[in-house]
Amino acid sequence: MYPLGETPACVCGSSKMEMRCTGKSVMNTGRYYLKCPVNGKHLESFKWYDEYRGEVLRMPTALNSDKGE
Ligand SMILES: [Zn+2]
Repeated sequence: MYPLGETPACVCGSSKMEMRCTGKSVMNTGRYYLKCPVNGKHLESFKWYDEYRGEVLRMPTALNSDKGE
């Protein structure tokens, strides 16, 4: 499973963001990131997972408690 269990909803409202892992690249080996589920090119359509989790840890009240799905 993913480290956090679930991903946040994309800001465009389409669905939850997809979590992917980078391939073996020079700069970011196996780093997780979140992307827009419909591949949108909008603000916040991409974010590094560790940075996202850092935001959640700093602002726990900002985490949507929606348990739907
Ligand atoms: Zn989106």
